[in-house]
Amino acid sequence: MHPTECIAPSKTLEIDALAKKLLSEGKDVINFTVGEPDFPTPKNIVDKAIEALQKGFTKYTDSNGIPQLREAISKYLKEKKGVSYSPDEIVVSNGGKQALFNAFSAILEENDEVVMFAPLWVSYVPQVLLARGKPVIVRTRFENGFVPTKEEIISHITERTKAILVNSPNNPTGGIYDKETLELIATIANERNIFVISDEVYDDLVYEGKHISMYGLVKDELLIYVNAFSKSHAMTGWRVGYTATKNKEIKKRISKIQSHVSSNINTPAQYAAIEACNTDNASMIEEFKKRREVILRFAKDYGLEFVEPKGAFYLFFKVNGNDEEFCRQLLSEKLVATVPGSAFEMPGFVRISFATSVEKIEEGMRRLGEFIKQQA
Ligand code: PMP
Repeated sequence: MHPTECIAPSKTLEIDALAKKLLSEGKDVINFTVGEPDFPTPKNIVDKAIEALQKGFTKYTDSNGIPQLREAISKYLKEKKGVSYSPDEIVVSNGGKQALFNAFSAILEENDEVVMFAPLWVSYVPQVLLARGKPVIVRTRFENGFVPTKEEIISHITERTKAILVNSPNNPTGGIYDKETLELIATIANERNIFVISDEVYDDLVYEGKHISMYGLVKDELLIYVNAFSKSHAMTGWRVGYTATKNKEIKKRISKIQSHVSSNINTPAQYAAIEACNTDNASMIEEFKKRREVILRFAKDYGLEFVEPKGAFYLFFKVNGNDEEFCRQLLSEKLVATVPGSAFEMPGFVRISFATSVEKIEEGMRRLGEFIKQQA
């Protein structure tokens, strides 16, 4: 059977189609589904792309990314995040998404297993299946703050386990793993010679506590580090992400995959990303912090059950009954679009994105409050 046959159409599509239909009818829909910063890309970054185009940088480049960009990323990772990779260890790809797919494709042989923790981002399972691997889902528990326990992890490891996938800060919960949890995962991987793919695309968006990278915890040859400028610099449409690994064989494979699948990412975006490495994002983070406080105030007022999001821009809360039905009704009755937890392999919950203005958050949460009251 071809792997695409195992991939279910996105559960968010139905609700998305309904939201679009209502919008096209001129209805005042509050969209809490978006997974991207609503801020424009900073002007200095945009200007560098325009300048690159005007200078004629419109041709193919090194498929790993231009050396200046890989040098800039190397320096940025070291100075800003304490993550140390040389330019040769970095491959630039079309967003964090392709970086992850390159990583899976580089390590997996048929039926190799990748252990991952639900709730999880929608593309992990399809990507592993497309790379002919087998996703093994550890269902973490709300009571444990959606943090996997040692027993939960170990009981899912087999002799076919090739990698453990870590996503902190997490989409959809906004949770960040503490040092003990990251060390636990690293120890399990190090002892058993299992790769760790660490998706750290939300690492800058942390409002409480501190993001800790898997870098330095997992043995160098076992770690594939993934990051992108999409969330950190409001650059989702530019498609600039990257893998970094000190494992030379895996780096070589990722390079080959990148070169044959899409060559280099688009050339002006690479020049823009160099500028992003030198662009402070503190004011955007500050604004997200304020929005988070607003949404938490409403959520607490309503007595919603959730694990307090410490990072990213999501609130993931428990609902009574079927989550897909909850989202459908909330949209049709109150014109508030949200994403059901089943899209993230965690039914019984709903995700709200607070990557929207304070006014919209207040109005959307007011409507959610009415909806919940009516349901009770
Ligand atoms: N990982 C996670 C957890 C994400 O939420 C996303 C984007 N929604 C990505 C990776 C992919 O990011 P990009 O837009 O850079 O491809």
